[in-house]
Amino acid sequence: MSLARRLLLRASRSAWLARTLRQRAFFRRAVRRFMPGEELSAALDAAAGLAHAGLGSVLTQLGEQVTSRDEAAGVRDHYLRVLDEIRQRQLPAEISVKLTHLGLELNPKACLQHLLSLAARAADARSFLWIDMEESRYVDATLELYAAVRAAHERVGVCLQAYLRRTPADLETLLPLAPGIRLVKGAYNEPPAVAFPRKRDVDAAYAVLAGRLLERAARGAARAVFGTHDLGLIVRLRERGLALGLTGGEGAYEVHMLYGIQAAGQRALAREGVPVRVLISYGTHWFPWYMRRLAERPANVWFVLRHLL
Ligand SMILES: Cc1cc2nc3c(=O)[nH]c(=O)nc-3n(C[C@H](O)[C@H](O)[C@H](O)COP(=O)(O)OP(=O)(O)OC[C@H]3O[C@@H](n4cnc5c(N)ncnc54)[C@H](O)[C@@H]3O)c2cc1C
Repeated sequence: MSLARRLLLRASRSAWLARTLRQRAFFRRAVRRFMPGEELSAALDAAAGLAHAGLGSVLTQLGEQVTSRDEAAGVRDHYLRVLDEIRQRQLPAEISVKLTHLGLELNPKACLQHLLSLAARAADARSFLWIDMEESRYVDATLELYAAVRAAHERVGVCLQAYLRRTPADLETLLPLAPGIRLVKGAYNEPPAVAFPRKRDVDAAYAVLAGRLLERAARGAARAVFGTHDLGLIVRLRERGLALGLTGGEGAYEVHMLYGIQAAGQRALAREGVPVRVLISYGTHWFPWYMRRLAERPANVWFVLRHLL
């Protein structure tokens, strides 16, 4: 992992930096590249705009590691409202949640109850509940809660990170559940014993895991989602899918990307018939999330500096 990436990921955990930079106008302007606004209404409007262009969306309120049970219950209530909005506005939108935002560290049992109510509401809204994957110390608990919710509800999926050495085994454990899996490369600062430090190894691991997921999707036994902006990798996965008889239409596999990244690529894939969703983030707690976006591509730091100048 490059020094710049490591420093940015360490900075993402600094409460002092968050307080200082969040108030700066140039920083707030730079963040707008990756989110349509802090309010839910901005995210819903963006989702409606994307729907006109044939793109689905996934909505996520920024936040993690809440420190009180009331806060966690508030996050659950917020997402219940989001699902009601999705239904009322008939948007092709899903939601994605972080378990530490729903109080995983405070009370895993209550967190599971929150997930169950969200999954039930997502089913009513013909939407879908995604569970993000956070730092490696949360993986066991996240997969345990995912399995429990999946046992009761169909429209629920979880993110797996290709950079983790454990992920091939986790994928095999999940596959019998006919899971929804969003495969990503991984965005956090992990030690080499836990995650591949070299990007080339992460990319290779991703291709193998994606191949396995495609095989299951071809048998109708998984919802396969590739959460990546790596257009070369997507081309190779599409070829692999074709070899398995998957044309990329509804029910085969999907590509999910983040709002503001590879926007032209998103539209091009959708035009070619690949189901594409755009993950739209909103909310005031954007500092750690934004620093992770900078870390993914340290060249983005120049974008911030341009706004400063
Ligand atoms: C829908 C979705 C959900 C995600 N959920 C999670 C999650 O739950 N847990 C988690 O750990 N990670 C998550 N991530 C982040 C993911 O782990 C990667 O950090 C991120 O997607 C960058 O990797 P990449 O696959 O795009 O490939 P890379 O090889 O890093 O990038 C490929 C190309 O994409 C472009 N690109 C990538 N990132 C950026 C950026 N920030 N700014 C500008 N251009 C960029 C560049 O052109 C780059 O060359 C998610 C990503 C997506 C798309």
